[in-house]
Amino acid sequence: MIAEIIAVGTELLMGQIANTNAQFIAKKLSELGIDHFIQTVVGDNPKRLMKVTQEAESRADVLIFTGGLGPTRDDLTKQTLSEYLGEPLVIDEAGKTHIMETFRDRVMTDNNKAMALRFENGIPFPNDVGQAVGTAIQKNGRTYILLPGPPSEMTSMFQHYVVDYLLALAQDKLRLNSLYLHYFGIGESQLAATIDDIIMNQTNPSIAIYFGNYAVTIRLTAAGNNESANQVQLTTLANEINQRLGAYYFGQGEDLGLNQVLVAYLKAQNKTIAFAESFTGGLAAKKLVDVPGASAVLNGSAVTYTAEAKHQVLGVQQETLDTVGMVSSETAIQMAESARKLYNSDIAISFTGVAGPDPMEGKEVGTVYIGIAERGKKSRVLQPKLRGRRENIQYRAVYTAYFDILKNK
Ligand code: ATP
Ligand code: MG
Repeated sequence: MIAEIIAVGTELLMGQIANTNAQFIAKKLSELGIDHFIQTVVGDNPKRLMKVTQEAESRADVLIFTGGLGPTRDDLTKQTLSEYLGEPLVIDEAGKTHIMETFRDRVMTDNNKAMALRFENGIPFPNDVGQAVGTAIQKNGRTYILLPGPPSEMTSMFQHYVVDYLLALAQDKLRLNSLYLHYFGIGESQLAATIDDIIMNQTNPSIAIYFGNYAVTIRLTAAGNNESANQVQLTTLANEINQRLGAYYFGQGEDLGLNQVLVAYLKAQNKTIAFAESFTGGLAAKKLVDVPGASAVLNGSAVTYTAEAKHQVLGVQQETLDTVGMVSSETAIQMAESARKLYNSDIAISFTGVAGPDPMEGKEVGTVYIGIAERGKKSRVLQPKLRGRRENIQYRAVYTAYFDILKNK
């Protein structure tokens, strides 16, 4: 889809004002991934306006006009386009009410009412900050969009109504394909710093970033004539991004969580997993059980909250508990190794730590030990420093463990 901007106004032509409307619209078009190659400025003159319209029609699918919707004699854009296209104008009732409200007890002339005109066979765009109604019409495969001249009115109308209208138009003509990439363990500012130059130089595919509670999603959207070309563009850009962010990447797909990725991975490897949970209270097992088919990979989880339970159920040595305490790497290792044997799994992960709000055993909130025992491998302990509220710390610990299994495959 190709768009063209036609700015109407003798003041623009004379250099009395700068064409900031064209600048604004051009920027939006490029953000929307809509092609745009030529802009025109024309004075308040019906004949010349018709001529530039005709020329633009030979090059573009969407013609965006700005200026000349006002009440004065020289505001002729609607009337000229109406005559040129042979499309009648009617008063937009909502627009008229809005204009009357702003006039209250002052006299409203016919000129003022004319600001409520719209194409009868088109649609209106409300003017939330001024009076003149915007309007659009489709004819012979082309779309004509008429917007007011005052920048505050034009930009507000554009943002609130025209963007969605253009996107819907683009979807009719263009194929849009999206690719969702998911990352764990990277913060907002670090992510921005790492791929900022890619984002700044990118128009198609477009890049949108969503920061979830525990993961970051990057959505790439390609707009093009066919799906396979779009897919090539998406893959190329995804590879470029993952050259920098690969260490944090865990998968692609519209709706994808680390728990799903972990279940799929364990299934593919034919491996089973078990947990020994203290401050996570069963969350590590719960998040896997949320995934259909988890029974093929999850053997069980022991929630051992007190020191006694850790000793009785998992056989954590009393001496360990008495000397280094529950929140320690020794306890984490013993919990994990013992859970692996108890549930006869290939992998077992333990969680012991301080979820807060109060410190424990003289250790700060967020002190967390994650023990990982794997068949045939030396056990290891992760000690992420976690911040946030109790629930955040629990979730982060669980996802940190899942992510570690995936990254250490
Ligand atoms: P009004 O109801 O104010 O008459 P209008 O839709 O008829 O609005 P114009 O009369 O063409 O629009 O322009 C109104 C004012 O808006 C101009 O004096 C100018 O300050 C500003 N303006 C118009 N066109 C542009 C443009 N392309 N870029 C920046 N400013 C513009
Ligand atoms: Mg005017």
